[in-house]
Amino acid sequence: MALATQFHTTKPHMLKESKEYASQTLMGGLSGFESPIGLDRHDRINALRTGDIGFVHSWDINTSVDGPGTRMTVFMSGCPLRCQFCQNPDTWKMRDGQPVYLDAMVKKVERYKDVFKATGGGITFSGGESMMQPAFVSRVFRAAKEMGVHTCLDTAGFLNKNYSDEMIDDIDLCLLDVKAGDEQTYHEVTEGALAPTIAFGNRLREHGVKIWVRFVLVPGLTDAVENVENVARICEQFGQSVEHIDVLPFHQLGRPKWHELRIPYKLEDKKGPSADTRKRVKEQFESHGFVVY
Ligand code: SF4
Repeated sequence: MALATQFHTTKPHMLKESKEYASQTLMGGLSGFESPIGLDRHDRINALRTGDIGFVHSWDINTSVDGPGTRMTVFMSGCPLRCQFCQNPDTWKMRDGQPVYLDAMVKKVERYKDVFKATGGGITFSGGESMMQPAFVSRVFRAAKEMGVHTCLDTAGFLNKNYSDEMIDDIDLCLLDVKAGDEQTYHEVTEGALAPTIAFGNRLREHGVKIWVRFVLVPGLTDAVENVENVARICEQFGQSVEHIDVLPFHQLGRPKWHELRIPYKLEDKKGPSADTRKRVKEQFESHGFVVY
């Protein structure tokens, strides 16, 4: 299959389905990387801290999924949140990934840089939570920027403090998950806190980083009128940085992974949102002046 060279914009149904999409792409898993050998636990922790290695769950080359153009999307392992609707619980633990050398990752970016430039694409770090490994991700981004390659961070922003201002300056676009609009709902959805996401979004705005907000619409969990209003108000704080909001309807594509991992799955029989609810939520965001997909 030849790499697509046409520019596409992301469609909502494509987002967060990268794992499924990987099977249709050129690569998947961890092909093309040699894992470091001979590193003991102490060496690995040090290398992780400095960003000489990163723990990667998988990667792929895709179009129109995780940012504009043709992209190399790297799924980092490790996530501190426990979203009820997570499609990738197999990325939660750092040990779910394999260590990959920084140099090998940078070389991979270099290999595709002409394709990225021709399509308006670039590299996207996703996860798991990409901000669990700030040194590795930011060093790859720095190298990408030096090559003139577009950079995109897919994150929930929960680990805001992991990122220095310098690191943020190397991000061109952030796919920022705003999972709920108030602390109580956010905690119910993720077991984490909302404040760091808001703080990270505000820092992105201050640094002029473009944001595509993503909001997963789950009946009975995130679809309340008030919750959507609160999410919209949070997005307003991010000002002109927000290019659009992707409203992602909940679906059950991730359910088999929860079963496989034997993790209790609270949304077992949950259906996706109705057409009416999707329309209402879209209109709510639009009434705040946002472009919604
Ligand atoms: S932040 Fe992403 S990877 Fe982590 S639990 Fe939530 S949906 Fe899953």
